[in-house]
Amino acid sequence: MDPNPFFGLIPELPGIAIDRFDLRCRDAAVLFFLSHCHTDHMIGLAEEKPLNGPLYLSPVSTVLISHRYPLLTENLRSLTLSDVLRTRVVPPDGSEPYELSVRTLPADHCPGSVMFYLETERVRILYTGDFRPTPETRSFIKLIQPNIVYLDTTFLNLEYAHFPTRDESTKKVTELCEEWLRADRKNLISLWLPATYGSEDLVRLLSARLGERIHASENQLSWYLYFPMMHDVVTDDTSVRVHVCRGTKRTSIQPLCSDPFSVHGTQDPRHVRTIRPSALRWRGLKPGANFWERQDNLYYVCYSSHASCNEIGDFVALLHPHVECVRSIAPDGPGGQVERDFLTNALTRNTSTGQVSIPSPSGFKLAGIQYDKRRNISLTESDESDDDPKPQIPKRLRSGD
Ligand SMILES: [Zn+2]
Ligand SMILES: [Zn+2]
Repeated sequence: MDPNPFFGLIPELPGIAIDRFDLRCRDAAVLFFLSHCHTDHMIGLAEEKPLNGPLYLSPVSTVLISHRYPLLTENLRSLTLSDVLRTRVVPPDGSEPYELSVRTLPADHCPGSVMFYLETERVRILYTGDFRPTPETRSFIKLIQPNIVYLDTTFLNLEYAHFPTRDESTKKVTELCEEWLRADRKNLISLWLPATYGSEDLVRLLSARLGERIHASENQLSWYLYFPMMHDVVTDDTSVRVHVCRGTKRTSIQPLCSDPFSVHGTQDPRHVRTIRPSALRWRGLKPGANFWERQDNLYYVCYSSHASCNEIGDFVALLHPHVECVRSIAPDGPGGQVERDFLTNALTRNTSTGQVSIPSPSGFKLAGIQYDKRRNISLTESDESDDDPKPQIPKRLRSGD
């Protein structure tokens, strides 16, 4: 592995930039790719200098980016999961032109998130972006044979070996809502979201299962309404009983709007149950253990849009035996020695030939990244703004991503 953090450019594919749009990438690239619309993957998109080429992204991301950055509209090129882009790349650095084919795969991280599979005559590269695999992802992955993988290693840390599935998490959140709303007609739910963008599936499923619309703030509504699937889910009606209007803010234990209190005949915050879905605080979670925790009337529920450590292992195991090199797209690398061993074992799990060697102090076939110190997990606010991380876990610096 390359010890250098990933900053958007892939050495084997000159003229291509992925998830990075600063001036350095704009000068070096003629073809751009965006995996999803979290801010740490969009650095530089707001630059005034025009993009020197098309920007490929999913149809959902196309809608979001065209609203957020109207100046880029002419650059946007939607790729559906069945599209294959075939193009000739003429790198601006004068290196040899080459034929490139690109397809997208579902990343199941947030609406519209995709992985990119890029093939030339010489290399086959899988760029996962942020991802949490589902059975659908796995069925797509079986169709490709990358020899280089750029991997989301956010939770490549054995302390995050296990997360419940998002279905399990959503079910628990729904149960906590149902029991509270049933107990007293004055009771309200405030959902304290982990991310502004990326919680749509949770909000949508919760609304469907409760059979109620959910109040969102004006800002959230302007965002949610870009998603057709959210049109019957959220509302500006503050008298409903379930609220996401406080967004990711911790400022209060109550919903940000005050109307529901008067509408429902109470000013008493004890009638508000707050539910906090998040992943970061759930170190050491074991399968079968409770993945929720109560603090007064605040419930934490484990909910992750990134793969757990075990899911990362299962994912790379599917890719073997073709993979020769794994590179982290996280700015601080893929973890320590223990995680390196874990990744290598995962890569060799499905083979008896041992084509990828177990690491030793003298050499490591997934060469490049230094594993000599423990990595701290960190997430951007765009992914998860857990206001209650353990003190030893610093936040990822947004600008440093
Ligand atoms: Zn993300
Ligand atoms: Zn509200």
